[in-house]
Amino acid sequence: MIKRIVLAVDGSEHASKATALTAEIANKFGAAVTVVHAMPKAGSGRVPDELAQFVELEHVQVTEANIMRQVGDEIVRRAEAALRQAGVGKIATTVELGDPATKIAEVARTSAADLIVIGRRGLGRVGGSLLGSVSLKVNHLAECPCLTVK
Ligand code: ATP
Ligand code: MG
Repeated sequence: MIKRIVLAVDGSEHASKATALTAEIANKFGAAVTVVHAMPKAGSGRVPDELAQFVELEHVQVTEANIMRQVGDEIVRRAEAALRQAGVGKIATTVELGDPATKIAEVARTSAADLIVIGRRGLGRVGGSLLGSVSLKVNHLAECPCLTVK
């Protein structure tokens, strides 16, 4: 019985395919889905020079860290919208800070997931190997079954 699925997303086409398959499986089993995106580093508090004056006038946060956080939020938000569109009812999302594979495996463990769904490749430049480094490491670290989507 599959009750909770952890879906790892990085905004790539492969992650979209993983999202579509996750929706099918979740609907079939009535499972809850936790969408996870992990940022390897927080980014600096630096404001780009060209924007410094605007930032001072408008009091907006355009630090590197803030932009990265917003992109991370948007990546999980889009996956959540796609799941909802496909009829999935129980969805949680999280944006983590740290090594992506370690964080994905950690979220799966702490949420007692029965299945991890992940893309075969991601946003990285397509190299010779079959699996991306995050896919490979999650398959290695996972304590539950891990479905790698082509
Ligand atoms: P590499 O990153 O090693 O250059 P790649 O980008 O092609 O290669 P991966 O990064 O392993 O391949 O991506 C495979 C899958 O892992 C993605 O489709 C996505 O499901 C997941 N993934 C990758 N990066 C992250 C991340 N930062 N947070 C959450 N999931 C991720
Ligand atoms: Mg990658």
